[in-house]
Amino acid sequence: MFFQKEIETMPRKELEALQLAKLKETVAYCYNKVPFYHQKLTEAGVGDGSRIRQLSDVQYIPFTTKEDFRNNYPFGLNAAPMKDIVRIHASSGTTGKPTVGVYTKKDIDVWSDCVARVAVAGGVTDEDIIQISFGYGLFTGALGLHFGLEKIGATVIPASSGNTEKQMMMFRDFGVTGLVATPSYALYLSEAVKEAGYPLSDYSLRLGILGSEPCTPEMRAQIEANLGIYVSDNYGMTELGGPGVSGDCPERDGMHFAEDHFLPEIIDSATGERLREGGKGELVVTTLSRQGMPVLRYRTKDITSITYEPCPCGRTHARMSKTAGRTDDMMIIKGVNVFPTQIESVLVGMPYIGPHYQIVLRRVNFRDTLEIRVELADAELLERYQELQELQRSMHDRLKSVLGLEAKVTLVQPKTLERFQGKAKRILDLRNEPQA
Ligand code: ADP
Ligand code: ZN
Repeated sequence: MFFQKEIETMPRKELEALQLAKLKETVAYCYNKVPFYHQKLTEAGVGDGSRIRQLSDVQYIPFTTKEDFRNNYPFGLNAAPMKDIVRIHASSGTTGKPTVGVYTKKDIDVWSDCVARVAVAGGVTDEDIIQISFGYGLFTGALGLHFGLEKIGATVIPASSGNTEKQMMMFRDFGVTGLVATPSYALYLSEAVKEAGYPLSDYSLRLGILGSEPCTPEMRAQIEANLGIYVSDNYGMTELGGPGVSGDCPERDGMHFAEDHFLPEIIDSATGERLREGGKGELVVTTLSRQGMPVLRYRTKDITSITYEPCPCGRTHARMSKTAGRTDDMMIIKGVNVFPTQIESVLVGMPYIGPHYQIVLRRVNFRDTLEIRVELADAELLERYQELQELQRSMHDRLKSVLGLEAKVTLVQPKTLERFQGKAKRILDLRNEPQA
């Protein structure tokens, strides 16, 4: 159940010694190869890192932000000459101009190892036939999983996203055992499978290796039930090279980092101070192996916490809790911080409603209002007025106790809310639109 058991279960002392040596190397490499880092390290008095004595000295290194990536677009952060670069990826640009990542041959190799680790931890073996239904292209997800899965020896089908009928045909005809997709797209496909009318026994599906956006346990349970599969989660981002930064083990109680390649920290995003173990804050990551584009203390904007507690699975590498979402997705409604995942955890799994929802924010008379549109699972309920009212009220009350906010709940007809083939976009923020 391990891809690289020796490394994944390495005693922490050894692992930390390895990290320290690689941190020093990385700082010197950045200092010598990237003018941007040279300047920042000089200004901060860190220099080439030769004075770094312990892992916590990482705190003296300045942060790198998404802005830095944008200001140095496209290749300003490259550390290796272009002739050594074998691949270029870019972010899907959910929140603005894309950020670029470049890879040497070794980078691709290390990346594939990291992905292979999370896939094996999620149950993949060389006997699996895996359909990759992430959109292929610049996005790191598809090719990242592709290379990682091939490294395990699994059979890879580069399906890409879209064309539901064909996706389902391949599931059946090719005997697909595993699906790689975003949770949103997996949900969409899982409903299509249910509706296609073939019994689940016509499919050989058993695993879902999902990632690239938040997925609440409730949503995961729904996907698992619809497809009769076991789902594991994995995490990463373009700036750090893509998926494989961390992933679920069979305990599914926090995602293990590939700590020999990434040094994670948690900071208070307002002050930049490092938090103690277990504290919830912004994840900051330093790459320890990348050649093409090493990154020092990248501020991910993702809110999570880290534990170094031993895990029953035997892996010694630190675990991050599921992210509530990135600070960019956090809504501030009447001064209250709300993540879409909080709303999702309330809604998904309630009776009579499907797992699809949309969050609508408006400003009425200078006050924020929150409306949550939820799809009914069955249109029949629309005719049973009293039950409908009760459902609406109980959703309203649960949301109020979880969020501490008044929300208007609107139940809509089945299949009327948008479906997503990549990452879901569930927030409709109309607060800056002219009022009707
Ligand atoms: P973009 O920034 O254009 O969306 P990326 O694919 O680089 O492109 O997105 C990375 C972000 O996706 C992460 O910072 C995080 O917010 C989110 N993400 C990725 N994987 C997960 C996951 N397993 N759980 C929650 N969020 C995730
Ligand atoms: Zn574990």
